[in-house]
Amino acid sequence: MTQNTPTIFIVEDEWKIARFVQIELEHEGFSTKIEANGRRALDRIMQEAFSLILLDIMLPDMNGLEICRRVREVSAIPIIMITAKGDIEDKVTGLDLGADDYVTKPFATPELLARIRAALRKHKNVISPPAAEQQLRLKNLVLFPARYEARVDGQAVDLTKKEYDLLEHLIRNKNVVLVREQILQEVWGYEYAGETNVVDVYIRYLRSKLDERFKQKYIHTVRGVGYVVKE
Ligand code: CA
Repeated sequence: MTQNTPTIFIVEDEWKIARFVQIELEHEGFSTKIEANGRRALDRIMQEAFSLILLDIMLPDMNGLEICRRVREVSAIPIIMITAKGDIEDKVTGLDLGADDYVTKPFATPELLARIRAALRKHKNVISPPAAEQQLRLKNLVLFPARYEARVDGQAVDLTKKEYDLLEHLIRNKNVVLVREQILQEVWGYEYAGETNVVDVYIRYLRSKLDERFKQKYIHTVRGVGYVVKE
C-alpha cells in the first residue's frame, strides 16, 4: 500500500453494508477503515489521515449530521453522506452542513464509486498549488499557509485546523523557545487561559503525526518551560 492510495473512512453501523462497501472499494484499489460508533468516528477523523469520509446519518452516540458539522469546523476533507431512501430533509441538512455529496441507500456500487472519484477530484483541484505561494520550512517539512497544508518530502500530513495552527506558530518562531502559556494565548486565545495541558495534548498529536511517522525530531521539549522547533 503506497502513501498515495486514498483511504476511505466508512462510518456505518450496519455491519453488512459497511463490509460490502469495504470489499467493493478495496477491489477498486482504495484503502478503507470502518467505524460503527459516531463519537469514536469523530475522534478518529480528528486523529487519523483519511482521504474521504462516507458518513451514515443514523449512528450510535453521535449522528452523521452532527459529525459533519463538527468536522467542517476544522477540515475540508470530502464527505459523502449515506442517507435513507426518501429522506430529503437529511440530504438538504447534510449539504447545508458542508457535505460534498450524498448517496441514497440502497445504492449501486458504480454510482458510489463515481461519486467518490468526483469528490476526490474536486478536493484535489481545490488544494492544488497556486504559482508563487508562500511556504514555511523546517527541515524536510513544508507548510502552505494559504491551504493549511503540511507536507514532508511531498507527502501530505493530515492535520486538524488547531494542529496546523500550532505547528505554523512553532515554525514561525523557529529556534525560539515558546512558553506554554504564550502558545496557548497565541493559538487558542484568552478564553483558554490556564489550560496549558491543551498545548501538551496537541504537541503529542503533532509528534505522532510528524516525529513518529517520519522518524525525525521536529519538536523539542524544554523541560519546565515549553517547546521549540529547530533546524
Ligand atoms: Ca445507521
